[in-house]
Amino acid sequence: MKAYTSCFLFFFLVMTYMDGGAQSLKAGIGRKVITPKDPAWLNGYASPQRFSPAAGKDHDLWAKAIVLEDASQKRVIIVTTDVLGLSHEISEDVGRKVKEKYNVPRSQLLLNSSHTHSGPMIWPSAGMFDYDTQNMIVVAEYAQKLTNDIMEAIDGAVAALHPVKVASGNGNATFGINRRSPEIKIRPVDHDVPVLTISDLQGKLEAVLFGYACHNTTLGGNYMKINGDYAGYAQLEMEASYPGITALFFQGCAGDINPHPRGTVELAMQHGKTLCSAVQDVIKHNMSPVEGLIKTALIEVPLEFPALDIPQYQREIVSEDQYLQRRAKLMLSAYNKGWNVTTYKYPIQAIRFGKSLSILAMAGETVVDYSLWAKKQYGKERLFVAGYSNEVMCYIPTKRIIQEGGYEPNSSMIYYVMPGPFMENVEEKILKGIQAVMKDIGVKPQ
Ligand SMILES: [Zn+2]
Repeated sequence: MKAYTSCFLFFFLVMTYMDGGAQSLKAGIGRKVITPKDPAWLNGYASPQRFSPAAGKDHDLWAKAIVLEDASQKRVIIVTTDVLGLSHEISEDVGRKVKEKYNVPRSQLLLNSSHTHSGPMIWPSAGMFDYDTQNMIVVAEYAQKLTNDIMEAIDGAVAALHPVKVASGNGNATFGINRRSPEIKIRPVDHDVPVLTISDLQGKLEAVLFGYACHNTTLGGNYMKINGDYAGYAQLEMEASYPGITALFFQGCAGDINPHPRGTVELAMQHGKTLCSAVQDVIKHNMSPVEGLIKTALIEVPLEFPALDIPQYQREIVSEDQYLQRRAKLMLSAYNKGWNVTTYKYPIQAIRFGKSLSILAMAGETVVDYSLWAKKQYGKERLFVAGYSNEVMCYIPTKRIIQEGGYEPNSSMIYYVMPGPFMENVEEKILKGIQAVMKDIGVKPQ
């Protein structure tokens, strides 16, 4: 009887240990300044003031990385960047390097951009401007350097992997407003503040990843200093509040959301403080453990544009509007070479940590309807939704927004050098894509 009891006890201890081992995570954090050294043009507004280099900086911009590793040594790498948006080229380049160096597949790498409108121009979004050779070299060299800097942040994070406690929670901040025309009746917002913390085994905070769905456009097109906008200030404020930590901001589905009020550095600081307080509130009162095995999925959904309207581009190429002219030139030359420019391979990614947390990451300037839909489907307590992830190619509207028209579905596509508005089935295709990646990681609708 006694032997039987000890045997049972041993079995119980082994199972407990195995279960604890299977649940635990390791993490490492890395960071690298990405503020351009050469005078750089700022990215985000086509205002006349912006046709000259930035006049210095208010604070540094960063690429920051968290690497998380589960008990089976599967890793996920999350990188945040204080820039307008990473190009397909940079995203692919970093993906290739991460695969070569760490054998981590693309589905386990999430790259996010804060969408600050006071960060440096990044090739190829410079395509919309008339650059002289010297400026073009500065922009092209910055893109290469940014790729290397992101890799350095990742290298630092991988080198620092150690056992940690991870937790998540959700707060609230209300300075994001739907910016579409006042005549438009449906003006949804997403005021959630998702928070992920990494602490050492004694509970000392090491990193905080937090998000918000709101354009980093507190500073306008006449602002000429490098600045991370409210997200830059929120990260600085967090790092000042908890000395030694790394604070990382990820952008949500903010395509149609602006900060309010906006227009001055003081307001960007104020929104940063508001967001920081919301994050601190969550850390103090509302955290649950994040643990378990990592699962990831990444798919590309072919989003469609209508057939090329050649007579329209023939009219636009003689237009006095330089942006229409430039797009028409590119579209006609693609047409004449027989290239396919009627679909875009749109990446959608999902990451899961056991039963405790999932992250849905969508590319482009995703409008807020997508995050509200996903949270309704899968429950907002255990789901983070990121927009502006992996690459930012243009706005990603819903059917409603395409039908309503306006900047996001229509005129912005000229500046993004896209063939025209998306087909209305873009929403249906993306929702099916979200369902596919969530199914791949084993998360069911609630
Ligand atoms: Zn935008």
